[in-house]
Amino acid sequence: MKFDPASSIQDLLQFGEFGDVNPSITDSATYTFMEAKTMVGTFEGDEEGCFLYSRHWNPSNKYLADALAAMEGTPAAWVTASGMAAITTTILQLCNAGDHLVSSITTYGGTFAFLSNYLKKFNIEVSFVDITKLDEVEKAIKPNTKMIYTESMTNPMLQISDLPALADISNKHNIKLVVDNTFTPMMIAPAKLGAHIVVYSITKFINGKNDCVAGAVCGDEDFIASMADVNTGSAMLLGPVLDPLRSSSIHKNLHTLHIRMKQHSHNALFLAGKFKEAGLRIVYPGLEDHPGHELMKKQMNPDFGFGGMIAIDLETSERANELMEKMQKEGVGYLAVSLGYFKTLFSNSGKSTSSEVPDEVQKEMGLSEGLIRFSVGLDHDIERTWEKIQLCLKALKFI
Ligand code: PLP
Repeated sequence: MKFDPASSIQDLLQFGEFGDVNPSITDSATYTFMEAKTMVGTFEGDEEGCFLYSRHWNPSNKYLADALAAMEGTPAAWVTASGMAAITTTILQLCNAGDHLVSSITTYGGTFAFLSNYLKKFNIEVSFVDITKLDEVEKAIKPNTKMIYTESMTNPMLQISDLPALADISNKHNIKLVVDNTFTPMMIAPAKLGAHIVVYSITKFINGKNDCVAGAVCGDEDFIASMADVNTGSAMLLGPVLDPLRSSSIHKNLHTLHIRMKQHSHNALFLAGKFKEAGLRIVYPGLEDHPGHELMKKQMNPDFGFGGMIAIDLETSERANELMEKMQKEGVGYLAVSLGYFKTLFSNSGKSTSSEVPDEVQKEMGLSEGLIRFSVGLDHDIERTWEKIQLCLKALKFI
């Protein structure tokens, strides 16, 4: 039977202390123990279901983590105060000083900066590869390699990672495959395709309201427990805990994610087709000429479409800026970074969310300086939106 992330969430019975239809919010930093010996046991990690201190676990965060684990089909999950916290604590949990990892060269700019600049402090070496070239990935593995890192759909190039093939390579070398699934929740279920750990910026589609920053790590019980270990856990010791009030509002938003993803995908496919018809260079995995189209079809859950992200290439950043400013004036959406919002957002990737990537690396990964990345919103009438965009393109004589 097909994996159905939306029904997995729906089937969870998570209600509050007084039968509330939404789980109760636990607004406490610390918890009482009726018996001192239970506290000792909790520190030693052998008391199931006992809460100790909210940096360790919080009941509201646990509800959200359980719902995300259900969505992902993983035995466990952990929530963090940002997507970067999820990524960095996962990497630091898996890699020690002197280790090595292999990463896709196209990733979110913050991830790229962490991998290429910050990990140097710990003498953790990173080899960047074109993740679509599987032989390049395997060749980069060394005796001290601990993991392969990729994004299911890469930011901002929208390449598709072949997750079953990358999982095979990882298993062959006894290393972990860590996948950032921020662009493709529900559409792609990386753990079901062989990934060992799935990370998210919840800030984006999962929350969908642009009112907070949050993240998640989904994996097996042992890995999640290792992150929470009071002596050696990167999540416990670095402390990027999500506030429980936020966690409970994200939890409610998660229940509408399946409907939102369908509408984001529907609108993005429509706009991608129109950009193409207008003769612009367009990147969208839902179009047949996208190099990852067939692979995406093999890996995706078709109920949710090809996603809400598209990119157009206007060749120069000047042209990209002119169009973005005009689109904002005409009410197409906002000139802003981030994604997964109910309104359309657009930004010039090379000068914003990928600006951490040096120019020569941007060239190497094929990132044009005129690339505009769109996170297509939930517009009810997307034809009307296209009319506005067309007006802008014509006014600037780009079509
Ligand atoms: N992963 C991807 C693919 C992203 O696009 C981003 C942010 O833009 C992040 C991770 C980082 O997430 P956060 O901003 O929630 O820390």
